[in-house]
Amino acid sequence: MSAWDGYHERPPDLDLGSNHWVWLVDWDPDLDLNPQWKNIPKLKLGEHAQAYIGHLRPGDGAYCEVLINFDIARTRGLLSVPDVWTVSSWNPITVTPDIICHAPTVFAQGQPPSGECGDHGSIQGRQWVPA
Ligand SMILES: [Zn+2]
Repeated sequence: MSAWDGYHERPPDLDLGSNHWVWLVDWDPDLDLNPQWKNIPKLKLGEHAQAYIGHLRPGDGAYCEVLINFDIARTRGLLSVPDVWTVSSWNPITVTPDIICHAPTVFAQGQPPSGECGDHGSIQGRQWVPA
């Protein structure tokens, strides 16, 4: 049994070590249904649009995830996301800046989620480097 069982239907694409795993996401809209995107750049070989970074919360070791968006030509200016990460190398993957998980940790019935995971580090040379 893995920490991410129940969250993903396939094993992670990358194991970064230090209890951090990556599921890479491509953005490949159906161009017949979305002709407005017919002229956007294609994904380059080995390039991806987003990544889920699964990890164990520093506070209690519970499984948690953060989604990051990569700054690539295909999605630049198309997806309304507040932050993007720069990939200086896809293989081995190296991403800047640091990644901080702001996922809530407390889910009380009738209350808005609160708390913050706070997991913080970076991906350098296909390794998770804690901050
Ligand atoms: Zn987290």
